[in-house]
Amino acid sequence: MMNGQNKFASNKDSKVRIKVINELCISAATCVIHAPNTFDLDEDGIAYVKEGTWDEAQQIITAAASCPTTAIIIEDLDGNQIYPEVN
Ligand code: SF4
Repeated sequence: MMNGQNKFASNKDSKVRIKVINELCISAATCVIHAPNTFDLDEDGIAYVKEGTWDEAQQIITAAASCPTTAIIIEDLDGNQIYPEVN
């Protein structure tokens, strides 16, 4: 499993944690287009979370919102889910 796949990944410089649900990822890559410093696709075409400095949190949320299958879950550092929004 790559970083962030089916398990939350964090980054010392980011206010969010990110998880990609592998089973939902259909390799559309819109997450990579919106947040290229945060997401990439592995050799099977499944998104994972990159090492190094991520994009701004708002950009990461935009990337998650662009995913056609809602495969990306974003939470804050307290474990509260930010995206998809929970009411
Ligand atoms: S946008 Fe969603 S389906 Fe497309 S690569 Fe990213 S996580 Fe996978």
